[in-house]
Amino acid sequence: MKRVGLTGGIGCGKTTVLREFQKIGIPTFSADEIAKKYYDEPDFKADIRSVFGDSVFLPDGSVDKKALARLVFAESELLSRLNALVHPRVLRDFETFCERYLGRDYVVFESAILYEHNLDHMVDLVVCVYLDTEERISRLLQRDKSSREQIEARINNQLPADEVMSRADYVILNYEGNPRTRQVQYIHNQIIKC
Ligand code: ADP
Repeated sequence: MKRVGLTGGIGCGKTTVLREFQKIGIPTFSADEIAKKYYDEPDFKADIRSVFGDSVFLPDGSVDKKALARLVFAESELLSRLNALVHPRVLRDFETFCERYLGRDYVVFESAILYEHNLDHMVDLVVCVYLDTEERISRLLQRDKSSREQIEARINNQLPADEVMSRADYVILNYEGNPRTRQVQYIHNQIIKC
């Protein structure tokens, strides 16, 4: 069973493309989605408190994700520390996921920061979704309630899209009107052939 990485900067359309793989029956694992669930787990919350302190908690005991995001996107050292809490858990859960689908041709592992965190070494090939920065910002302004500055800060924390594209084995151009389903089907055919 192959492991296929799916990556691309925030707002390029990874989640949308992931759904295309799901539609053709491919098991998919979203690192970003899984990571969101950790914030409800007591042991993860205890780790967050020990690294970032009480200021990133709300009065009801839940993590104040906005406060945490403000901290980590303002200082890359803090982002690294958060990632050091999240990543071992993601890798553990992905291993469990792969064991469940051992007989399949391949599974897709989606992460916005596959290259940034050297996760490309644990997949056999990488598909990247590409969209230029301005188009990503305009989609994110519609999708999220973030300001342009916040979106730009997030984008600037990731590898430039051109670099991601040059390192990937396959590129999906996710411009409006482009045949996304056909691009995914083509890549699917290539993956199961090799
Ligand atoms: P990512 O997971 O990479 O952050 P999403 O898949 O959430 O990106 O896409 C960002 C936004 O752009 C979403 O609101 C999504 O509905 C929209 N979107 C994705 N693909 C297209 C497309 N081909 N044309 C127009 N809008 C799109």
